[in-house]
Amino acid sequence: MSITLNPSGQAMPLVGFGLWKVPRESCADTVYNAIKTGYRLFDGAQDYGNEKEAGEGVRRAIADGLVKREELFITSKLWNTFHSKEHVLEMTKFSLDAWGLDYFDLWLIHFPIAQKYVPPSERYPPALLYDVEAGTMAFEDVPIAETWAEMEKAVELGLVKNIGISNFAGALIIDLLRYAKIPPAVLQIEHHPYLTQPQIVALTRQRGIAITAYSSFGPQSFLEMSHPVATKITTLLKTPLIEEIAAAHGKSSGQVLLRWATQRGIAVIPKSNSPHRLAENLNHVDFDLTEEELGKISGLDAQIRFNDPADWPGKIYIFA
Ligand code: NAD
Repeated sequence: MSITLNPSGQAMPLVGFGLWKVPRESCADTVYNAIKTGYRLFDGAQDYGNEKEAGEGVRRAIADGLVKREELFITSKLWNTFHSKEHVLEMTKFSLDAWGLDYFDLWLIHFPIAQKYVPPSERYPPALLYDVEAGTMAFEDVPIAETWAEMEKAVELGLVKNIGISNFAGALIIDLLRYAKIPPAVLQIEHHPYLTQPQIVALTRQRGIAITAYSSFGPQSFLEMSHPVATKITTLLKTPLIEEIAAAHGKSSGQVLLRWATQRGIAVIPKSNSPHRLAENLNHVDFDLTEEELGKISGLDAQIRFNDPADWPGKIYIFA
């Protein structure tokens, strides 16, 4: 199952594997095993610190004949410190080298926030938490238009097949569409029943932009980071409504949460280090929720955003 991307016409798998917090030591094996299980899309980022190891897993799977490069869909993301026109293409090539790939299928602007440049020789990945903890968070006045023009050049140079955005709000997307020569193919956002974002889903549908949901299990991903809200509310996986619907279909709560997105044409990229869940997440598309069930799950919306850059992590930043 896939989504056809605009304007390239390339198919993007509806279910992929997220690489955030996949430990560097086990990442190559995790990616290799995920490919063996049937995953074809991997969602990485400069910020995740495991590009080289993820690439090793991919290259080993190709060398062993499990898959061909053109059957895979590799996504990565430009970090906040590389937004200026001097750095976008240089850092696109840097990440391709780290992965050991000739091209990315999808290259996203990770956040619409330009931070002060950190040379990779000094610190890589530039790690947001480093700046937060050291109190050295600094911004750069780089408009999105400047970054986007360089992203377009990456397509023209054949470094990437599709370009897109992540964590962008509606008004910024509308503005980007005013000047983009190549419109964004994908918007990647936090999307789960506690944060359904119906307006942005409707906007992107209308403008032919595919959505990829991250953190599909809501607070689950943020528990291990002791997120102040995630630790206080009921995990979506144990919410009675989700458990009831899961029992009615003979599925797990996780599969219900993923199906709520994919049945509405929204791609998902769950992350798991467990082989059992890896398979469970990939194979969640063999059942359908009723319209009533979809509506009831959407009714859990509480506008709770766990990954809010204005509050990283627990400190308020003013983005002027
Ligand atoms: P996720 O929703 O995939 O949750 C991961 C957590 O859920 C882990 O603790 C995992 O052990 C657990 N889990 C996985 N499958 C399960 C199942 N079937 N049942 C019960 N628990 C299960 O969260 P995530 O890692 O935040 O997001 C997924 C991916 O999205 C990331 O790996 C990354 O690639 C991407 N992402 C992107 C951004 C962005 O800013 N663009 C931000 C966050 C994540």
